[in-house]
Amino acid sequence: MVEAPVALWEVTARERWPDGAALCGEARCDVAIVGGGFTGLSTALHCAERGMSAHVLEAERVGHGASGRNVGLVNAGLWLAPDAVEAALGPERGRRLVDELGQAPAYVMGLIERHGIDCELTRSGTIHAAHSPRALAGLAARAEAWRRRGAPVELLDREEVARLVGGGGFHGGLLDRRAGTINPAAYARGLARAALSRGVRISERSPVRAILRAGGRWRLECDAGALLAERVVVCTNAYGGRLWPGLGRNLTIIHYFNLATEPLGERAEEILPEGQGLWDTAPVMCSLRKDAAGRLVIGSMGRLRGGFAAGADRAFHGLSQRFAQARLARLFPRLGRLRFEAAWDGRIAMTPDHLPRIHQLAEGVFAPIGYNGRGITTGTVFGRDLAAFLAGEGDDALPLPLTPPDRDPFRHIKAPLFEAVFLGNQLWQGWR
Ligand SMILES: Cc1cc2nc3c(=O)[nH]c(=O)nc-3n(C[C@H](O)[C@H](O)[C@H](O)COP(=O)(O)OP(=O)(O)OC[C@H]3O[C@@H](n4cnc5c(N)ncnc54)[C@H](O)[C@@H]3O)c2cc1C
Repeated sequence: MVEAPVALWEVTARERWPDGAALCGEARCDVAIVGGGFTGLSTALHCAERGMSAHVLEAERVGHGASGRNVGLVNAGLWLAPDAVEAALGPERGRRLVDELGQAPAYVMGLIERHGIDCELTRSGTIHAAHSPRALAGLAARAEAWRRRGAPVELLDREEVARLVGGGGFHGGLLDRRAGTINPAAYARGLARAALSRGVRISERSPVRAILRAGGRWRLECDAGALLAERVVVCTNAYGGRLWPGLGRNLTIIHYFNLATEPLGERAEEILPEGQGLWDTAPVMCSLRKDAAGRLVIGSMGRLRGGFAAGADRAFHGLSQRFAQARLARLFPRLGRLRFEAAWDGRIAMTPDHLPRIHQLAEGVFAPIGYNGRGITTGTVFGRDLAAFLAGEGDDALPLPLTPPDRDPFRHIKAPLFEAVFLGNQLWQGWR
């Protein structure tokens, strides 16, 4: 059904999105936004709700970047445990960020409801599954840290996780009831629709080639036009390239791939029977969820390797397929051989300390960046907060201090090293 490299979500999203026009000629607005993912669209929507005119310039199509390709886990908090976030940022700023991201799934779900976004939302939580007894001890500490902050998280033993997964062999896990799952491409399109209905302009296939200072404003140069704006928010995250000197030099870009089986019919009912999404604690992480049609979507770190067979029977084959088949066979031996009808990958922006940033690049130019694989909630609430900041609420509106771009001198070494480890994992998991 679906051919690589299109993400399943783009094909199955019930939110329709018309082909948008490119920017042609000269336009003006209060806030120019580069990038049509969760961050850019949320910034635009919230700016419009506060009475500012906003214009999104997207190089490809809405949701083309990580926003249309991710696993769809609407998780609370960051990759780092809450205690570690507070230790890194200090008690005041740290607590602020932890609280904000702890409440972020509820904000995303509220936004989905408020704008009637048809994105397969489930609210039954997510499971962080322990791949070893030691990892379970780590999850116990994480659960305790969240519970001290009043969050509804539960530590599950081996049997409880096996029941919620419908198989497995995990040593236990952490169930976070604040979380849920979505079709992420549909969520991005729904945000775009909501933004349009509030007067935001969205130009697709409009890569910004340069951001220049001109006559007291910013001028964003595209191929067939230019946008003049008082303020600019660059929301390109892992897909940014070299648009602004120095931006992204703190990011190690890694890949994450996903494969989706064909709908499993009745067999799907026993797997993740309550609809949670899952990711594990293994050093090379693996994720698993179901979609609304009963497909299993399995993912892991690394590039997608393989392709679709030619002809009528266009099932995915190759190394990533072998990995997914073997991993699913170990989790659910009763499933037997599976057919994969969609496969894709995307880029994740990792920072050296696993903390996101909100950079100030110049007077009136900002860049929220580096979500370390937690962008559905983080991108949405950072966009909301930036709109409040741009509306004049001051630095207090932001969950992080504004910082200049920093640099990770080892990022060029780390990226190929990590990808080599991820490739080794695909080979090992696929053949053992
Ligand atoms: C495979 C995968 C799985 C993930 N799983 C999860 C998950 O389960 N839960 C979660 O919370 N997060 C997850 N993430 C992370 C999450 O998807 C991202 O953090 C989030 O989508 C980032 O949103 P964004 O809007 O900042 O950037 P993006 O969605 O990447 O958008 C950036 C956009 O900028 C555009 N662009 C780039 N340069 C230009 C230019 N010069 N001019 C105009 N436009 C430009 C790109 O085309 C792109 O559309 C995952 C990521 C990946 C890749």
